[in-house]
Amino acid sequence: MPLKKMNSEEFKRLTTLLECQSPVGFEAAMTHGFLAQEFASFAPAEWAKYTFKGNAGIIFDTKPHDKEALSIMLVGHADKIRLQVRSIGKDGKIWVDSDGFLPLTLIGHKVVLYSQDPQNGRYRPLKGGTIEAIGAIHFADPKLRSGDRGIKANQLYLELQMYGKNPQKDLEKLGIAPGDPILLQRPISRGFSKDTFTGPYLDNGLGCFVTMEVARLMAKDQKYKNLRLIFAFAPFEEIGRFGSRIMAHKIEPDILMAIDVTHDYKAAPGVGEQRFPETTIGGGVALETGSITSPFLNSLLRKIAAKEKLPLQIQSCGRDTGTDAMGPVFASIDAAAVSLGIPLRNMHTISEVGHTGDVMATIKLIELFLDYLEKGENGKPLSRAALADNHIRLNATNSSSLNN
Ligand SMILES: [Zn+2]
Repeated sequence: MPLKKMNSEEFKRLTTLLECQSPVGFEAAMTHGFLAQEFASFAPAEWAKYTFKGNAGIIFDTKPHDKEALSIMLVGHADKIRLQVRSIGKDGKIWVDSDGFLPLTLIGHKVVLYSQDPQNGRYRPLKGGTIEAIGAIHFADPKLRSGDRGIKANQLYLELQMYGKNPQKDLEKLGIAPGDPILLQRPISRGFSKDTFTGPYLDNGLGCFVTMEVARLMAKDQKYKNLRLIFAFAPFEEIGRFGSRIMAHKIEPDILMAIDVTHDYKAAPGVGEQRFPETTIGGGVALETGSITSPFLNSLLRKIAAKEKLPLQIQSCGRDTGTDAMGPVFASIDAAAVSLGIPLRNMHTISEVGHTGDVMATIKLIELFLDYLEKGENGKPLSRAALADNHIRLNATNSSSLNN
């Protein structure tokens, strides 16, 4: 099956979601703002919405009162990689902190700073700034010029073009303070190459988009009688996956499926010797194997994809999936975990690259998977007991050889 096209209405929704101002700790613009509104427009009245005291995550539940139904929680993470004010220098430089950007990839980019207006305490955007570290080539030492030396994280600052007698005071008067969040400012746009798109924070607006679109389909079709579906939009993934564990603890799902991004290893510069599988954009979604993922569900997903001729790439991970699929384990909850990754180039930069066909293939794979869980085999839906009893036994196999 060739990768499905994303129509212009879907692409517009994807763009709107990706551009929500939701840095780590401030995810509400996406969750309580955009997503709550979208769900309100399509979700049946019986679906429940859960919000949290300690974070801005949000969950939608198709069967809040049915604790017997097999429950599947889909998780996308709503937070964007952190960049924040560290301190304000005497000369008006705003020194910044980042958790997940390579310092070099930030330089020269336009950003928006959000700080509280001292008049009314409300956050408002301050635009016009860029991230800098060196300034003019004329002041750079020869090692920087040749590329022998790089940029240290503590060299990064936000240039808001302040000048005059006391720029530090002027900035403080504006209410700018340590911890104020900063977002990269570049719109999402179609790429040059067919079906590609580019911009910042595809990680993990894509997982949230897929989760939302599956919910939209389910609301439209209302075809699942046996399944309880939980659509979760987690905070705090980028700083340790602290949101999904709280959500898993609250819901205690039977199955948790994380929908995140992964690398296009085929095109990643300089990793050839590391022997990664050659996952690529435009090749379909990647299924993570290993770590705490369920071999039973993984083999089911592979079977479903093969039967429907849906492209599926396979990636292995070691101890940790690196995604919210770890949520139940961290929360000490017994759930079967699946981790899906939509391939990206240039992850954690302003120019992340994705493929709309991969996004659509992820939605399709999840729908087929849910169809299977609902119907099961021989007319019997997949049960909680089947999950507990159907672990793959490597002893129950016939040996095979090419040397017969
Ligand atoms: Zn990330």
